[in-house]
Amino acid sequence: MSSNNQVYGGIEAGGTKFVCAVGTGPDDIRSSITFPTTYPEETLEKAVSFFRQATKGLTLVAIGIASFGPVDPNPLSPTYGYITSTPKPGWANTNFAGYIRESLGVPVGFDTDTNVAALGEHRWGAAVGLETFIYLTVGTGIGGGGLVNGKLIHGMLHPEMGHLAIPHDKEEDPFEGWCKFHKDCLEGLASGPAIESRWGVRGENLPADHPAWQLEAKYLAFGLVNYIYTLSPQRIIMGGGVMQQSHLFPLIRQRVQHLLNGYIQADDVLQRIDQYIVPPKLGTRAGVLGAIALAQDTVGD
Ligand code: ADP
Ligand code: ZN
Repeated sequence: MSSNNQVYGGIEAGGTKFVCAVGTGPDDIRSSITFPTTYPEETLEKAVSFFRQATKGLTLVAIGIASFGPVDPNPLSPTYGYITSTPKPGWANTNFAGYIRESLGVPVGFDTDTNVAALGEHRWGAAVGLETFIYLTVGTGIGGGGLVNGKLIHGMLHPEMGHLAIPHDKEEDPFEGWCKFHKDCLEGLASGPAIESRWGVRGENLPADHPAWQLEAKYLAFGLVNYIYTLSPQRIIMGGGVMQQSHLFPLIRQRVQHLLNGYIQADDVLQRIDQYIVPPKLGTRAGVLGAIALAQDTVGD
């Protein structure tokens, strides 16, 4: 794929932190850095100076960016590579990919954080060899990306899998939801901040037998069955801070089987659901490694 001094750069741009790395894959990361996401000029300049330093004596072939959104991932659009309408102060209409490309003078690949994490899992993780699968993250928000028929999912803009409308029994759960746009969409009911505002305690500090987790599994399972019905994914990978609660996985799997109620006649969900709804194999590195995979794809390596 590349000679020894050819390397790729990956940027995982989150709302709270940036992770940048230089290398060629999971077993060959030459250097990496993590720093807080502040204002665009300061943050992007920090990323650029990291790549300048970290690639001294090496050839930087391309950079991949996994960005928080909403973004414009359409290469034919005049605002391709921009973070578009985010409420994050200072970041709306930021020409992210353009700035990196012009500062470093290399080709740049750009996509949503979840699509890129999906690409990382496809190249080196839990989705190797699959054509159609989903990567869902449950953290500050809920977002999803993935591949359909071997290609990253794009479209009109990009999927917003966290904002599904799902059943909300207000007697069981009077919490009204916190999504600014929809209140009790999936993200409004089941993201980390939703757990915290409903129970008054952050998810990290709730015990495994707390009723919060049954409710969480219920909402996430509603989401998952809708993805199963619409995309027929061969696997669903679930990451993000909230999914660090690994006891959620069996609860979600059980509820998904219950909701499907035998309708989907596939061994993946009937017999092997433990291998169907899974954590990311690359763990918290899926995003930044995916960004390196995207950089490689950008130049056809
Ligand atoms: P981000 O979404 O900013 O990239 P995370 O995926 O870590 O970062 O999501 C942060 C959210 O996840 C917070 O609401 C936090 O309370 C929750 N969270 C983080 N770690 C855990 C954990 N171990 N268990 C439950 N919830 C967690
Ligand atoms: Zn919403």
